Amino acid sequence: MSDREAPSDRLRFALHGGAGELPDDAGPQTEQRAALDAIARDAVAVLRAGGSALDAVTLAVEQLEQCPLFNAGIGAVLNRDGQPELDAAITRGEDRGTGAVAGVSRVASPIRLARAVMERSPHVLLAADGAEQLARELGLPMVAPESFVIPLRQAQLAAARRSGSIALDHVDDRAAPDAAFGTVGAVARDRHGHLAAATSTGGLTNKRPGRIGDTALFGAGTFADDGSCAISCTGTGESFIRAAFGQAVHGRMVWGGLSLEAACAAALDDVRRLGGVGGCIAIDRDGRLCLPFNAGVLFRAWWTGGETAVQTAVWRERSAA
Ligand code: ASP
Repeated sequence: MSDREAPSDRLRFALHGGAGELPDDAGPQTEQRAALDAIARDAVAVLRAGGSALDAVTLAVEQLEQCPLFNAGIGAVLNRDGQPELDAAITRGEDRGTGAVAGVSRVASPIRLARAVMERSPHVLLAADGAEQLARELGLPMVAPESFVIPLRQAQLAAARRSGSIALDHVDDRAAPDAAFGTVGAVARDRHGHLAAATSTGGLTNKRPGRIGDTALFGAGTFADDGSCAISCTGTGESFIRAAFGQAVHGRMVWGGLSLEAACAAALDDVRRLGGVGGCIAIDRDGRLCLPFNAGVLFRAWWTGGETAVQTAVWRERSAA
């Protein structure tokens, strides 16, 4: 952030396509980075045109759900029974308005349904059939669960079943290290200083049916409050839930006086202590960005406002934000 910028100029945006491990000989991830770059630029255009942070993160996550390169929407990982079960959440920092869905497989865009839960229902979190019933009532586009399934995820499920593991989609994936990656999310700050966050995922490969991760839970994998920060997480959901990740960062900032960076680092330490790996993208009320991770990689794109260009990175050493 430049000190000369007026608060209304501090438009900011970041997105992620998952954290995890890649083999040393993994390629440059050109396709994934191109997708992240294009989607981030579309979201930046929304902010530049005066659009809201909420609209920017909705658009970005919806586009990421449509992209088969990531673990959300089309290309999501599969549960133990070979079915996609998708979780998503969105939240606006202005009033912590939140909508979330868990275990859905028939709505074309889980993040659009999450937003509908926030804006068009009195509830915060709806699961499975009940969530899909709301989608139908509201006329949201519906699809068959099979439309989310791609062969790579079937191969990953077969491998996970053989080894008896329940895996982050991209850990130890030697079958196709270049083919697809992780959970998706976005955070933004708009011209009014409002923050927003959105996250969408298929969860973990070979998970037990009915399992819900941190993504759908406000205060864990998805969080926004205009007084502190907006956060979207990726990684071992059980650990992020137990760390109450988003709320923990918020609390350290508001009550402990920590910077966003220090608060995220402490919360990530907690995740590690609880046996988890992953990372987050976060933005504070003044527009500072922080994209930390304790895994090998975090697919990410970010924009620091003004005339700067969107940047992308995967590995730690190439990170500039
Ligand atoms: N956090 C997600 C979950 O546990 C998975 C991921 O980020 O890859 O559902």
